[in-house]
Amino acid sequence: MRVLVTLACTECKERNYSTTKNKRKHPDRMEFRKFCPRCNGHRAHRETK
Ligand SMILES: [Zn+2]
Repeated sequence: MRVLVTLACTECKERNYSTTKNKRKHPDRMEFRKFCPRCNGHRAHRETK
């Protein structure tokens, strides 16, 4: 029941992380605050397809 998702920076759109999520727990898009090497700081990262 876990699916692979990619997390992209919401500012520069760089795909920095990939992770898995529980689709039952989070049926819609998730957001995380993570370090973006391109923005050189913490930015919101959003799930992409
Ligand atoms: Zn960025």
